[in-house]
Amino acid sequence: MQSTLELLRSSDPDVHAAIIGEERRQREGLELIPSENYAFPEVYATNGSVFANKYAEGYPGRRYYGGQAYTDRIETLAVERAKQLFRAEHANVQPLSGSPMNQAVYMACLQPGDTVLAMDLSHGGHLTHGAPVSAMGKIFNFVRYKTSPPDGHIDYDHVRSLALDVRPKIVLCGHSSYPRELDYARFRAIADEVGALTMADVSHIGGLIAGGALANPIDAGFDIVTTTTHKSLRGPRGGLILCKSSLAQRIDQAVFPGMQGGPHMNAVAGIAVTLKLAAEPAFKAYAQQVIRNAQRLAAELLQRGCKLITGGTENHLLVIDTIQSFGIDGRVAEAALDVAGLTVNKQVIPDDPRPPLRPSGIRLGTPAMTTRGLGEAEMVLVADFMTRAMRAHEDQKTLEGIHDEVRGLCARFPVPGLE
Ligand SMILES: *Cc1c(COP(=O)(O)O)cnc(C)c1O
Repeated sequence: MQSTLELLRSSDPDVHAAIIGEERRQREGLELIPSENYAFPEVYATNGSVFANKYAEGYPGRRYYGGQAYTDRIETLAVERAKQLFRAEHANVQPLSGSPMNQAVYMACLQPGDTVLAMDLSHGGHLTHGAPVSAMGKIFNFVRYKTSPPDGHIDYDHVRSLALDVRPKIVLCGHSSYPRELDYARFRAIADEVGALTMADVSHIGGLIAGGALANPIDAGFDIVTTTTHKSLRGPRGGLILCKSSLAQRIDQAVFPGMQGGPHMNAVAGIAVTLKLAAEPAFKAYAQQVIRNAQRLAAELLQRGCKLITGGTENHLLVIDTIQSFGIDGRVAEAALDVAGLTVNKQVIPDDPRPPLRPSGIRLGTPAMTTRGLGEAEMVLVADFMTRAMRAHEDQKTLEGIHDEVRGLCARFPVPGLE
């Protein structure tokens, strides 16, 4: 690795400098975006491996190109490990990322115009769950359920009455900004009542499920479970589809040749490694710690006057209403925290009256920090840094001073692989 980086330094100093700069940014700042993480160090090796050179259209044993002895071996390893770790009947490890992964499921299971019942974007759902701006939103009919006040939890009676009303082909649960655990059995019962397939998109929490810290929708009899591999799982960027055997052929055909050509075999190699590491006891401890850290961070933020959507968290993420808490919108909060070395993202809150680029809140989470080894004691410091930075959002000097403190903390917790 070192030698190829040295080569890059001389052939393209601009790109080389950007990589070094990004490495330093990741080392010296705290990553609080809940969908981000630091990959297992082994993944840097697989990402940069010769598998990136190889075309492998098709599936193990039935490819469209020769020279597949090793690609077949790693894809079979990845598939078998995925099935075992998630207790699934079938796995597809080829989706290039989370979005094509979900698109492939829709293509496999729906006809144009069919209805999907999914969570509203501003209430925690994802763009790929039929947001009007997404391509899938134009092809299929997405009907959206929302969380309900005052506690901000999913109202399952409301989901059921919508399902009875619109008779969806798929009942979809899963989220990017909902800080609560899901009642998979309840979703399954609702879907059964209307004869729909059950799909859980656990992209954010795939690692927490693999580590046994959150419930696995497959155990509740879900037909399809999708997850990205680069978030809480700590793998390369990619997508993983798990499903019942009865859907296997349709799903595989929808991924290739339906949606994609050649899979990224360097990513598939990384997914194989990731699934091996995620089955180890150390990863179980990690998954539990992610949630303990999030709950401690929530408690500390509440104590310092922050208003949290749903009042807390049961998973790895939190949403702060920054308007109510500090009188600043999410964009201002994100920018102030950035100067202080704390990376978060602005976030719409349920039925946000403000536009998406100036929303009412921010979203944050603990997977990346926990990978560095930060624990509950450090969450007290993080809550303190955050609230001080948001209060001092106009005071550049204070924000830079906080970044110095953040650098000090980061120095004690090196990023695995970037020490
Ligand atoms: C991140 C995410 C995706 C999409 O993943 P990309 O790799 O960014 O395309 C899909 N669904 C959910 C719930 C997500 O959080």
